[in-house]
Order: sequence, then C-alpha cells, then structure tokens
Amino acid sequence: MSFEINETERAIVDAVESVSQDILKAQAQHYDENEIFCQESLTALGEMGCMGINLPEAYGGFGVSSVAMSQAVEAIAASCASTASALTAHFLATDSILIGGTEEQKNSWLPRAASGELLGAFALTEPAAGSNPADMRTVAKRETDGWHIQGNKHYITNAREADFIVLYAKTAPSEGHNGISAFIIPKGTSGITFSSPEKTMGLRGSTIYELALDCWLPDSALLGKEGHGFATAMEVLDRGRVEVAAMSLGIARAAMESSLQWVQDRQIGSKPLMAYQGTQWCLADMHTRLQAARMLTWQAAEKRDSGQRFSLDSATAKLFAAECAGFVTDAALQLHGGYGYIRDLPLERYVRDARILRIFEGTSEVQKIIISRSLLNSR
Ligand SMILES: Cc1cc2nc3c(=O)[nH]c(=O)nc-3n(C[C@H](O)[C@H](O)[C@H](O)COP(=O)(O)OP(=O)(O)OC[C@H]3O[C@@H](n4cnc5c(N)ncnc54)[C@H](O)[C@@H]3O)c2cc1C
Repeated sequence: MSFEINETERAIVDAVESVSQDILKAQAQHYDENEIFCQESLTALGEMGCMGINLPEAYGGFGVSSVAMSQAVEAIAASCASTASALTAHFLATDSILIGGTEEQKNSWLPRAASGELLGAFALTEPAAGSNPADMRTVAKRETDGWHIQGNKHYITNAREADFIVLYAKTAPSEGHNGISAFIIPKGTSGITFSSPEKTMGLRGSTIYELALDCWLPDSALLGKEGHGFATAMEVLDRGRVEVAAMSLGIARAAMESSLQWVQDRQIGSKPLMAYQGTQWCLADMHTRLQAARMLTWQAAEKRDSGQRFSLDSATAKLFAAECAGFVTDAALQLHGGYGYIRDLPLERYVRDARILRIFEGTSEVQKIIISRSLLNSR
C-alpha cells in the first residue's frame, strides 16, 4: 500500500493545514474555556469547500480519496478537536443522505451541505440505545401523507445548530434491524424540543443535546426506502470510524509536537529534559504508536476507496487510534509536569478532548466485538 495522494489532493490538504493553523488554532482555547460553539471555524472551513470534503464532485464535494480526507481531518483536529467533531458529525449526516437517499434527496441537500450553507446532525443514539442502536424506541408511524415521529434521542452533536437532522426511527418495531428507517428533519420543524447543551468533559466547542420528538413529517422526509435505515447507519459508521481515527491522530499529533518542543526547552538540573533516557524512550513510544495508528487509519481509508468491505479495517483503526490518542496525550501531559496540568497550556485540553474518542461512534469494547466477529465469520 502506497497511501499516495495526487497533486490536487495535496493542495487541498495543505490549504486545510494552513486554515487550521491560522484560524482554528487561535480559537480552540477560547471555545473550550467559554463553551462556545465553533461556528467561526466551521464558517472558515465552509468558505474553502471543506464541509463537503467527504462528498463526490457530483454533489458539490471535492471528490478526494479517503486518505486525503483523513489527512485533512487530522490537520483540523490537531488545531481544534471541537471543530473536527462538529465537522465529522456533519459528515455522518451527509454520508447518510449519500448512502441511503434518493437521487432527488441527494441533489436537494448535499450541494448546500457541501458549500457550508447547511449544517447537518446525525441522530441515532437514545438514552436506552447506545452501543446497541437496534434497541431504539423512537417510532415513526405512517399516517395519511406523512409520518408521526415520537421518541427521544440524546448526545446528538450539532442538533440545535443544524439546518437538518438525519434521524433514525423504528417504522416496523417488530422487525428488528429491518424495521428501522431514516428521515431528514429540516430546521424549524415543530414538535421537537432541545435540551440545553450537555456539560461535557472535553470537546467543549462542540455541542451535544437531548431531543424530545413528537412531530409530523411529510412522506418526502423518508430517506430512501423504508426499512433500510439500519443498513445505512452501519455503513455510515464504518466511514465515520475512519474519521474518528483521523481525529485521534490530530489530537495525538498536537500533543506530540508540544512535547518535542517542551523537552528541548525545559531545563531539569544541568540538562534539558530531552537529555534523559527516560524522556527519550517515552517520546519513542509515543511516536511509534502514533505512526502505527496513522498506518492503520490510512489502510482503512484506502480499503474504503478501493470499494472493498472495510468494516474490520475501520474498527481496527478506530480502536487503535483512539487508544493511542489516550496514551499519547497522557504521556505528553506527564512530560510537561505541573505545567501540563495548568490550563494556560493546551495539554490538559488534549487529554480531555481525547477521552471521548474511546466512546463515541462505538466504544472501544464495541470495536473489539466488530473485529472479533469479522475475524471469526471469515473462517
Ligand atoms: C460528545 C458525544 C458526542 C456524541 N455525538 C453523537 C451524535 O452526533 N449522534 C449520535 O447518534 N450519538 C452520539 N453520541 C453517542 C455515542 O455514540 C454513544 O455515547 C456511544 O455509542 C456509547 O453508547 P452509550 O453512551 O449508550 O454507552 P452504553 O451502550 O451504555 O455502554 C456503556 C458501557 O458498556 C459497554 N458495552 C456495551 N455493550 C457491550 C458488550 N456487548 N460487551 C461489552 N461491553 C459492552 C460499553 O463499551 C461501555 O463501556 C455522542 C456521545 C458523546 C458523549
């Protein structure tokens, strides 16, 4: 595997790197401290077309490879993990339409979502259905000319800010996975109540909400075919896990870069911190895990581009990269000593931001279930 990207893709990734460094990085601490939604950063990314980096050119996207997309998401997360989280949640919504929608729905929603005119949210999780979304209780009952939706979703990123929410609900509760369908809910639909933003440990510039739904949607809101929602969501999450892995690389990279500078600048006794072998071994461990995580992420991305099944690869990359981000950010904070624990430096934010990577879009335990099932089923 070469993981090469072409010249156009390189130019896009370089442009994302520079916007991330120039605009996103400057805002990251401000968002975190004040718990402000990262709108300014999303607008900057929208202006350069990045809100559709996951989409084909036919729908207003860049049509870049997943390897290039992973590199762009890594760059964004290295500067502002909250922005990367809001952006990748938007990708879950647009991927849902791309995978499950009719041609008319794709043409109607995707170009405007790609340009940054519209922000999306992806509503799958419920209070009683997280790791096992098939347990969901939200129902959509068919009525004359439409659907009556009743239920609750929680922890939905971007939900209140979003111009549309892709919502998953049971249309045939007795049919298990096959009884789940997806719907597109435009902003302003009456009968939806949003909670205040949840108080989160990290990613404080990216907001999550609980939604109470008792609303009516027209027939045209059904995404693609009735009963195809679960298959769509699983395919969307396969793709999303590569993006969470790329986000993990970004946060770990930022922690790694801070550490490399710090150990040169910090004097301990007569020597800089980098002169101690314990420090050197720690940096070597951090680097090795980060590089291994990057290779797994790009391998999953390349498999996705080749059109082969990549559930095993995306779960493996997500598991390893998320755990790696936990290890690297913690080691980086340790190398910074007490300075790392003080909020003047971004180290403690990296640790907090990295913690969710082992939980959302399938916990580490869920990734292990996917990986082991895939290995055992292929024998
Ligand atoms: C910041 C944030 C953003 C989010 N954004 C979104 C979003 O935009 N859209 C959305 O739909 N959801 C979103 N979520 C929800 C997220 O995907 C879920 O929290 C996650 O899937 C885990 O579900 P849960 O919280 O219900 O945990 P649970 O399913 O209750 O899991 C609890 C524990 O049990 C373990 N466990 C579960 N099943 C098994 C098993 N079979 N074997 C062994 N262990 C098991 C889990 O690994 C975990 O450790 C978000 C969550 C957060 C915190």
